[in-house]
Amino acid sequence: MTLSVVVPVYNEAQVLPELHRRLLAVLHAQADSFEVIYVDDGSKDDSVAVMRALQREEPGVGVLRLSRNFGKEAALSAGLRATCGACVIVIDADLQDPPELIPEMLRAWRDGHDVVNMHRRSREGETWFKTTSAGLFYGLLNRLSQVPIPEDVGDFRLLSRRAVAALNAMPERNRYMKGLFAWVGFGQLTLDYDRDPRAAGVAKQNYWRLWGLALDGITSFSFVPLRVASMGGLLAAGLAFALTVFYSLKALLYGDAAQGFPTLIVAILTLGGLNLLAMGVIGEYLGRLFMESKQRPLFLVDEFTLPLTRRPVRRAAAAAGAQDVQEGS
Ligand code: UDP
Ligand code: MG
Repeated sequence: MTLSVVVPVYNEAQVLPELHRRLLAVLHAQADSFEVIYVDDGSKDDSVAVMRALQREEPGVGVLRLSRNFGKEAALSAGLRATCGACVIVIDADLQDPPELIPEMLRAWRDGHDVVNMHRRSREGETWFKTTSAGLFYGLLNRLSQVPIPEDVGDFRLLSRRAVAALNAMPERNRYMKGLFAWVGFGQLTLDYDRDPRAAGVAKQNYWRLWGLALDGITSFSFVPLRVASMGGLLAAGLAFALTVFYSLKALLYGDAAQGFPTLIVAILTLGGLNLLAMGVIGEYLGRLFMESKQRPLFLVDEFTLPLTRRPVRRAAAAAGAQDVQEGS
C-alpha cells in the first residue's frame, strides 16, 4: 500500500459524497495503491450511512467508527493508527483542503521529505476575528515553544511511515497534533496553498474548543507560563520587601499619618489578581497532568471495517464481484 488518506468526520454527511468524488479522481489518477480511512467521530447525522455507501462502491475505503465524539485530535490519532500506507495524508472532510494538491504532496514525499506541511496562503471565508486570533496565537506559541511550530499550517499534511510510527508511539493524552507533527522532525517541507471556504455544513470547532486547543498547544510545548508566574512572584516579593523598608523608615523618621487607602486597595487587588492568575496557570498544567495520570485510552473504537483491499482472504471474493462488506472486522 503506497498511500493512506485519513479523513476525520463529524456530521459531514452533506460534504462527504463530493469529497469522495474529488478525492478518488485524484487518487485513481495517481495509479498507485491507496486506501481512504474515514474516521467517524461520533456523528449524529447520516455520515455513517454515507460512508458505508461509499465503501460499497470503492474497495479502498475503510470506515473506523469511534464510540462517541472524542474531538478532532483523537479522531486523527485513531485514523493514523489504522493506516498501513507508506505515507499518510490527513485531510479535512469539509473540502477546505483541496484534494487536488495530493499529487504535489506525493512528489515532495518521493523527493525524500518525511513531513509535508501545507501552509495556508489565504483563508477564504474565515472571519477577521479568527484570522487575527490565529495569528496572535501562533506568534505566542512560537515564542514559547522550543520546537518551531509552523504558522498557519493546519492538519492538512503528508507524513511518511516513520513519522506516523513516531506519532503513534507517543503516549500522551493531550494531543496538540499540529505541535506533535512538528516535534517529530525529520525532513520537513512546507508548501503553500489557498484554503477554500467550507463546501457545506458548519464549522464544528467553536471558539470555546479552539481556546482549549490553544491552551493544550501552549501547555504541551512550553512551561514558560509557569516560569512567568514564578518570575512575577519574585518581582512582587522584591517590590514588597523594598516597600516595607521604605515605609518603615518613613514611619520611623517622619511619624505615621494614616493615609494611602487607595494605594492599599490597588496593592491588594493587584497581588490578589496576580495570585489567582498564577494559580490558574498552575491549574492548567495540573489539570492536564491529572488527565495524563488517569491513563485512559485516547479514544474507543466501536468498529473498524477494513478496506476490502486489506482483507487478504476476501480479496478473491471481492474480485468475483461480491459486494457485501462484513462489519466489525
Ligand atoms: N471534526 C471531527 N471531530 C470533531 C470536530 C471536527 O472529526 O469533534 C472534523 C470535521 O468533520 C472536519 C475537520 O475535523 O473534517 C475540521 O473541522 P472544522 O471544519 O469544523 O474545523 P476548522 O476547519 O474550523 O478547523
Ligand atoms: Mg473546516
